[in-house]
Amino acid sequence: MRFHLSLLIACFSFLGLCSSSFATTNVVKVGLFWKNEPTAVMISPVIGSYEVFADGKRLDDLSREGLRLLMLTASGNQIELKSLKKKLGKFSRVEFRRKSWGCNIRIKASTPSHPAKVFYDNLMVRSNGKLKIVNQVYIEHYIAGVVESEAGSKEPLEYYKVQAIICRTYALSNLRRHAGEGFHVCDKVHCQVYHHRSTTNPDIVKAVNATKGLVIVDSEIELITAAFSSNCGGTTCNSESVWTNPLPYLRSVNDTFCLEENHARWEKTVSRTAWLNYLEKHWNYPVNDTAYQKMVVNYCPEHRAFKLLPDHPHIPLKIIRRDWKLQSAYFNIKEEGDSIRFVGRGYGHGVGLCQEGAMRMAKEGVPYNQILHHYYTDVHLINLAVIDFFRSD
Ligand SMILES: [Zn+2]
Ligand SMILES: [Zn+2]
Repeated sequence: MRFHLSLLIACFSFLGLCSSSFATTNVVKVGLFWKNEPTAVMISPVIGSYEVFADGKRLDDLSREGLRLLMLTASGNQIELKSLKKKLGKFSRVEFRRKSWGCNIRIKASTPSHPAKVFYDNLMVRSNGKLKIVNQVYIEHYIAGVVESEAGSKEPLEYYKVQAIICRTYALSNLRRHAGEGFHVCDKVHCQVYHHRSTTNPDIVKAVNATKGLVIVDSEIELITAAFSSNCGGTTCNSESVWTNPLPYLRSVNDTFCLEENHARWEKTVSRTAWLNYLEKHWNYPVNDTAYQKMVVNYCPEHRAFKLLPDHPHIPLKIIRRDWKLQSAYFNIKEEGDSIRFVGRGYGHGVGLCQEGAMRMAKEGVPYNQILHHYYTDVHLINLAVIDFFRSD
């Protein structure tokens, strides 16, 4: 989807008129319990009441005053539905539709057992031997849940604004990630972690509302891949250094804000023999040549590097990170007798926004838009109200 800047500017001038198209298509379908679906759940309303539909027909109301609880059990492609008093039948699709704005519904999975989770808005349930539960949720309710799951509940308001915009941008550019499974995004780290509705810090909802509809686009007005990692160690990476695609907005930038944060430094000691054996076996590295051996037991590149040695042989540090389970691919190596010590910086892949740097900036009073522009190069923050990204969904 490409939009010319002139079209965008025209859209801005009709902001009020455009907003209605977004308002009618602003629901995200989230696959819950992805890859760990239960076979039996209990569902009850927490706030407000719900209409229950079975195979498209209205069955009853679920409310705290009347029918308070329904049990759903997978039975092949059907769902056995029962209340505390009686069996209600077998159906292939059961839906819970909120009767008013702001309703919350509780899911307690009993087989296997999960802690009860509360969600905003509607649920749709199908079965394939396991219960496929989809939360059809207003996007800003979903974003608040994701921000809480991804960033915790102890950050400053300004940081939550940053995280809300990133999570919204990510969600909207990944709506087809689970095409064919009956939902847009899953609730796991594969997409974005979404444990339940946001409950613990009112600043999260405040931040989501304050940035409602805001997303990050590149110079072509396309949603960016809003990559982020925990701590960049002082320098973020160009996208192509870690992945394959060079993206104009994922450029290496210096970051002094994360240098004293929790994940700024790490160390790991391993056996010298195991390290040399690994290099010989996996990379055919000439460890028996003294000069070559020296280079890999005392290693201290001047700047952030992406391969172990500047030329032959090519050994990507990101693979060493994976194979040795290191916190980052940003490290020196020191020889210590029979051991070698990795002395590292940062945590994660290092592309895009550095969460701990951004949190520090927020604590020091830097506004959310400046934080985003620091980590993402040549991007714009725009409101979805001017572009209906859901239109072809
Ligand atoms: Zn996913
Ligand atoms: Zn950083």
